[in-house]
Amino acid sequence: MDFKDHKHVVIIYPHPDDESFGASGTTVRFREAGVPVTYLCGTLGEMGRNMGSPFFATRESLPEIRKQELLDACAVLDMNVEMLGYRDKTIEFESRKLVAERLKDYIEDLGATLVITFYPPFAVHPDHNAMGAAAFEAVKMIDSDIRPELWATAITNDRQETLGEPDVIIDTEEVFEKKLEAIKAHRSQAEGMLSKMRESSDFVGEYDSALQRLQYESFYRIDVDRVHY
Ligand SMILES: [Zn+2]
Repeated sequence: MDFKDHKHVVIIYPHPDDESFGASGTTVRFREAGVPVTYLCGTLGEMGRNMGSPFFATRESLPEIRKQELLDACAVLDMNVEMLGYRDKTIEFESRKLVAERLKDYIEDLGATLVITFYPPFAVHPDHNAMGAAAFEAVKMIDSDIRPELWATAITNDRQETLGEPDVIIDTEEVFEKKLEAIKAHRSQAEGMLSKMRESSDFVGEYDSALQRLQYESFYRIDVDRVHY
């Protein structure tokens, strides 16, 4: 796969920080090849329980804080962002068809040749699965001869057992500093998460190996006519 072969990449995940953990290295690789990348971010993650470590957010201030963090992360990654404004933790209750129609409009207007999203039901969080299912549906609504490619992120521990090896593995080593910088832009979330990774590691080496896992971004290539979701 040559990054330059694509015209526009559209990433569809529900939360600010999903893009940085899941596809930021991939984003940087595409940007370096001159390919525009747009993040369609479903919610502002306003129901999140992390308020910074030490706390600096409140329930009231969290939406604005996460919005700014998202803008900061996207600036690091040099990617466009559209905030779709769904309510955090409730995407599964939205009409999948209505969400899909909206996503399809974005995909077509932007001329996306590649869509990246979560792989339902292998994405752990209900918002992840619901957003992924709507994105699958959106791609399926597009005529098969002009349909963009679709890559999906699976997270569950049984993913390899069930789905086999991922089809696309992007090694982000060369751009890893930028990935880490994007993750850290999500200050209210990342500090706690990174320090939890540090604390839960009995050996110093485990923190490094957790970072190493973040280095590889893996995706399954989806044929929407054949997959069940
Ligand atoms: Zn998420």
